Amino acid sequence: MLPVIALVGRPNVGKSTLFNRMTKSRDALVADMPGVTRDRKYGEGQIGEQAYIVIDTGGITGDEQGIDHEMAQQSLQAIEEADVIFFMVDGRAGLMPADSMIAEHLRRTEKRVYLVVNKTDGLDPDIAMSDFHTVGMGEPLPIAAAHNRGVTVLTEECLSSFEDVDMPFDGRDDSVRIAIVGRPNVGKSTLVNRLLGEDRVIVFDEAGTTRDSIYIPYERDGQAYTLIDTAGVRRRKNIKEVVEKFSIIKTLQAIKDANVVVLVIDARQGLSDQDLHMLGFVLETGRALVIALNKWDGMTDEDKKEVKEQIHRRLGFAEFARFHFISALYGSGVGEMYASINEAYESAMAKWATHRLTLLLEDIVADHQPPQVAGRRIKLRYAHQGGSNPPIIVVHGNRTEHLPESYKRYLKNKFIKVLRIHGTPVRFEFKTGE
Ligand code: GDP
Ligand code: GDP
Repeated sequence: MLPVIALVGRPNVGKSTLFNRMTKSRDALVADMPGVTRDRKYGEGQIGEQAYIVIDTGGITGDEQGIDHEMAQQSLQAIEEADVIFFMVDGRAGLMPADSMIAEHLRRTEKRVYLVVNKTDGLDPDIAMSDFHTVGMGEPLPIAAAHNRGVTVLTEECLSSFEDVDMPFDGRDDSVRIAIVGRPNVGKSTLVNRLLGEDRVIVFDEAGTTRDSIYIPYERDGQAYTLIDTAGVRRRKNIKEVVEKFSIIKTLQAIKDANVVVLVIDARQGLSDQDLHMLGFVLETGRALVIALNKWDGMTDEDKKEVKEQIHRRLGFAEFARFHFISALYGSGVGEMYASINEAYESAMAKWATHRLTLLLEDIVADHQPPQVAGRRIKLRYAHQGGSNPPIIVVHGNRTEHLPESYKRYLKNKFIKVLRIHGTPVRFEFKTGE
C-alpha cells in the first residue's frame, strides 16, 4: 500500500503548486471527484524507491456555505483517505482565522499532521515562522513550492516513517488476484456475491478502515483466487445494510494489487468520464483487464446497440480486453467471465524463453524486414522477456531508435498473435547495443 498524503489548507496557499511539484511530470491519475469549484486530484510521486499518492483539495475558507461548503467537503474526504496531512499555510499572509479553524479540525484527527509554511521565498525565516508556532501543530516547516525549495526534504521526512511497512499481500501466493472496481452503484457488490457463489465462500472477516479493500480467498474448479472487493460486501452483514463509501484510493490500490482487474460499468448509464479515468489508470498500471457491462437485463435492443456502438467508438484503446455483457442481479453471463479472467491471467503471467522469442523475432523479420534508414538497414538480433503482469518483451538490435512506429506496430501485433496473448497489455522495449 502506498502512503497517502493529503494537502489541506485555505485556497491560494499553494496546494496545487506543491501538488505539481510532488507529482512532477506525472499528471493527476484519477481527477474525477467533482467538486463545485475544483475537483479532488490524485497524483502519484516518487522519491528514491518510495512511491506515494498525493491528494490535492480545493481548500477550506472558514466560511463554509454554498460553494465553500462543497470545497470543504472535498477536503474532509481527503483527510479521511490520507495517512498524513500537509496542513499548508501562507508565510506571506501570516496566520489567518481560517487557518486556526482548520487547525481546530485537524486536531481531532488521529492522522499525522505537518504544518507546512509556504511562500517563504525572500522572507526572513524566523519572522515568517514565528506567527505559526501559536497554531499548536508542531514545528512549522518552511517551503517555497513555486521554487521547489524544501519540498524534497519535507516529503522525505514524512515518508521515512513508512519505509518498513509490510505490503499485506506482497508475500504473494499463487492465487489469481481479481480486483472488482467501478463507480458507485454499478453493481460491484452484487457481482462479488455472484462470482463467489455463497456456498463456496470462505468468509474472510477482516476489520479495516473504509480505505482498505477486503481480500477474499476462495477456490473454483481447482484454481485458487483472491477476490479484492472494493465494495466491501464482506464487511457488511447484508448488502443493503450500509452503502460502503466509494474511495478512489481504495480503487487505485486494489488495481495495483491485482493480477486481473474487472472493471464494472453500468450499461444503462453508458460510459462516464469516471469509467474512462479508471480505465486509464488500469492501462497505466498494465494490469490484465476484463470489462463487465452490467445491468444488461431488461435493456431494449436499441439501447444495447447504442451501448455497443459507444464502446466501439470510445474504448478502442482497450481493445485487448474481453467485454462481457452481464446481469449481476440475475447471474446471466457471470460464469463465463471466469474463462476471460483465467485467460488474461495466463497471458499476463506467461513465461517465454529467450530462445523462443528470438526464433519468433527472426521469423517476423524474415517475413518483413525493417526499412532502411539513411541507407543502412536496422538489424533486430534477439528478444527476451523483461517482466510479467504486464508482459514486457525487450527487442535488441542496432539503431532501433530509428524503427518507425508502423514497423513497431507490425512487430507487436505478430508477437501478440503468435504468443496468443489475450486480456493483458504488452509492453515492448527496443534496445540498441553494438
Ligand atoms: P491553491 O489554491 O492552494 O492550490 O494555491 P495555488 O497553488 O494555486 O497557488 C496560489 C498562488 O500562490 C499562485 O499564484 C502561486 O503562483 C503562488 N505560489 C505558490 N507557491 C508559492 C511560493 O512558494 N512562493 C510564492 N511567492 N508564491 C507561490
Ligand atoms: P455497487 O455500489 O457497485 O456495489 O453496486 P450494488 O451491487 O450495490 O448495486 C447497486 C444497485 O444496482 C442495486 O440496487 C442492485 O440491485 C442493482 N443491480 C446490480 N446489478 C444489477 C443488474 O445486473 N441488473 C439490474 N437490473 N440491477 C442491478
